[in-house]
Amino acid sequence: MIKRLMTRYVPGMLTCEEVDNFLYDFHEGQLSYAERIKFKLHLSMCSECRAYVQGYINTIRNTQADIKKTEPVETIPEELIEAILKSRTKK
Ligand SMILES: [Zn+2]
Repeated sequence: MIKRLMTRYVPGMLTCEEVDNFLYDFHEGQLSYAERIKFKLHLSMCSECRAYVQGYINTIRNTQADIKKTEPVETIPEELIEAILKSRTKK
């Protein structure tokens, strides 16, 4: 079901620039489900943005650790993106 949803959104892939713009909202949980999927989908195909986002999130996490926040940073299941990553990289 999720897979079908993603293939449907492939034509509307985000550009690297959009990913950059979405990053803050993504992290704040302000994106819609479809937007998050597109965001993650782009990351699954773009190693540059992946490294960029990973660095961003790590920075935020470190900052939050300093503030001693215990809220989860991200609510999207990691398995989702990992599943995409695996299916994409094993070609
Ligand atoms: Zn990109």
